[in-house]
Amino acid sequence: SSFSTLSLAEPLARAVAEMGYETMTPIQAQAIPVVLQGKDVMGAAQTGTGKTAAFALPLLQRMMKHENASTSPARHPVRALVLLPTRELAVQVGEQVELYAKHTNLRSTCVFGGMDMKVQTAELKKGVEVLVATPGRLLDHIEAKNAVLNQVEYVVLDEADRMLDIGFLPDLERILSYLPKKRITLLFSATFSPEIKRLASSYLQDPVTIEV
Ligand code: AMP
Repeated sequence: SSFSTLSLAEPLARAVAEMGYETMTPIQAQAIPVVLQGKDVMGAAQTGTGKTAAFALPLLQRMMKHENASTSPARHPVRALVLLPTRELAVQVGEQVELYAKHTNLRSTCVFGGMDMKVQTAELKKGVEVLVATPGRLLDHIEAKNAVLNQVEYVVLDEADRMLDIGFLPDLERILSYLPKKRITLLFSATFSPEIKRLASSYLQDPVTIEV
């Protein structure tokens, strides 16, 4: 079905149109309405299926509609956190999120290992609403107090099976321990192995399962 059926906010609809998207992919058609309703999602989807827009568009839409209610002095607290297993995926998803958000006031950045912390730190200090990250480097930034996650409203565990394969479970658990309990959590994985199901039952609340 068409993106026009979603009544996306104009800045998001414009970005989607500029990217030449007309019809939603299956994961988008199923996930976007559910995420817009604020439900947790457990999605089975591979890279290349349009998964990024499936979570990024509804999260951006919700963030535009609902101002951050906190009284924090931080002008741009991190409100959405997207975790990915590798630098390549983090860069790719970070670039896509930036394109979807380009006509909004929401800022995003991407942090990953293998690169000097300084540039990433400067970006984080400016303030970003959407943070795309690999787990190890994110923990470095949390420990250095560059990233404050106590106002995160949305978490995406993307390519969750690959994150577990790499051995990121302890890092993920530590990161999740820093986040508010009241939040929306989305998990995407190519497979729903017993380990993924265990992760989901620990960290997702009454998720809607989507398989395409
Ligand atoms: P992803 O699976 O999110 O990495 O997306 C794979 C590719 O499909 C990216 O190049 C997107 O820009 C593109 N894409 C995502 N959604 C759509 C859509 N609805 N129509 C056309 N292209 C899309």
